[in-house]
Amino acid sequence: MKIVRYRIGKKVAYGILKENRVERIVGTPYRGIRGTKEYHKLSEVKLLAPCLPTKVIAIGLNYYSHAREVKMEVPKEPLMFFKPSSSVIGPEEKIVRPQGCQRLDYEAELGVVIGKQATRVSQAEAMKYVLGYTCFNDVTARDWQKIDSQWARAKGSDTFSPTGPWIETELDAGNVMVEAYLNGERKQHASTSDLVFNTAALVSYISQVITLFPGDVIATGTPAGIGPMQSGDVIEIKCEGIGTLRNPVA
Ligand code: MG
Repeated sequence: MKIVRYRIGKKVAYGILKENRVERIVGTPYRGIRGTKEYHKLSEVKLLAPCLPTKVIAIGLNYYSHAREVKMEVPKEPLMFFKPSSSVIGPEEKIVRPQGCQRLDYEAELGVVIGKQATRVSQAEAMKYVLGYTCFNDVTARDWQKIDSQWARAKGSDTFSPTGPWIETELDAGNVMVEAYLNGERKQHASTSDLVFNTAALVSYISQVITLFPGDVIATGTPAGIGPMQSGDVIEIKCEGIGTLRNPVA
């Protein structure tokens, strides 16, 4: 099932997307999903980021291929950092390069969307706390990442967390192709089978110390092939079995 968040007129709602039609659901998707039989054409609604995370927890160096590319060893434990909720944007929203940033990079990632509050859950139980998956772009000011020891602005500036276009609830994420296309040209591609830590491992590990809330996103890391974006570019993050998240660069 594909869960969207959308605006129509002045109303914002969650819905289920089925064959270019959106059915509004009651409330949020976190306490059971109930349709209302109120339908809209997909072309009539504006898709928003599919969830409202209290935080995005991103994982660094989580693909063997990317660790090789940057000549780093894969971490023994997941390397976490935060991206604030204020950095989240939806599909088709503009990524804005902050003033002073010299190199703005894309990073194609699979995003895990939490469905239920999770504190100290085991790996065996972890998947019960996952609502589904979405495409995520871990936009990075690479020059700032190199000069700052904390990555708050390098990873957390406004518009640095494109998320969407929807949440796929029925994906088995064990072997999913994750790709980045810059102006239609493929720049990154890898299977999640190359991940160092998988979804269950990440949810469990993070939840030992940080409570995850419904709508929170875990950005699972990027494969090899990272690179810069220029103003006027269009960046697309494609995750097999989910869809394509497309954002222009302002
Ligand atoms: Mg990343």
